[in-house]
Amino acid sequence: MQASDTDVAIDVIAMHKWYGEFHVLRDINLRVMRGERIVIAGPSGSGKSTLIRCMNRLEEHQQGRIIVNGTELTADLKRIDEVRREVGMVFQHFNLFPHLTILQNLTLAPIWVRGLPRAEAEDAAMHYLERVKIPEQAGKYPSQLSGGQQQRVAIARSLCMQPRIMLFDEPTSALDPEMVKEVLDVMINLAEEGMTMICVTHEMGFARQVANRVIFMDQGQIIEQNDPEEFFSNPRHERTRLFLGQIL
Ligand code: ADP
Ligand code: MG
Repeated sequence: MQASDTDVAIDVIAMHKWYGEFHVLRDINLRVMRGERIVIAGPSGSGKSTLIRCMNRLEEHQQGRIIVNGTELTADLKRIDEVRREVGMVFQHFNLFPHLTILQNLTLAPIWVRGLPRAEAEDAAMHYLERVKIPEQAGKYPSQLSGGQQQRVAIARSLCMQPRIMLFDEPTSALDPEMVKEVLDVMINLAEEGMTMICVTHEMGFARQVANRVIFMDQGQIIEQNDPEEFFSNPRHERTRLFLGQIL
């Protein structure tokens, strides 16, 4: 059966990107279907962040195509705004506004970008804070929260925009070890609810439990991809084996 276009969340076709002279992404082909949970792994500098940043045009690609929720990413800013509204992104560093309370961090974009009435935006914000299990922190400032709590706020803030796709760029890498689980638990929850997710992470336990596909990148290319079971037990490429040997 042929997949219909509406089943495709993100389509990356023969995509290349350069930073100046540096050819950072080489012939990337990646079709993400709705509801997929993809983990991207690979050594530092392999282009993982650049790839997912291209998916909501935080970075521009120079060749090939990227189509997100049916909209091709081009220089057309209006379309990029539309796409960004549907694609949430969570970074390694939480990027919360330090001078705003948690509740204000969550309601800012819904009020100013989506045009929601304040009361409605606050109701939604509290709903998502409950989902990430920190409603009691609503009135505090980011600096008063632990790293794990701040990252859960960052996830809730994304969810307030009701994205159809969530991109995660090493969301637990900056956290103390004891806080990793509380963030992964929130992500596992999202996956169970059917969110389309692309996660750059070194948490291979998470990959085994949640991902339906693991993608391995090296030197700007997708070297191999497979379901987690195969990927971990039977990596095909020497570079993948080397990488797994280092992190497992
Ligand atoms: P990863 O996330 O896998 O560690 P990145 O996508 O961050 O890799 O980086 C890939 C390569 O591109 C690295 O060599 C990095 O130094 C380079 N790079 C990243 N961002 C920029 C930039 N803004 N300008 C120039 N080079 C960059
Ligand atoms: Mg990175």
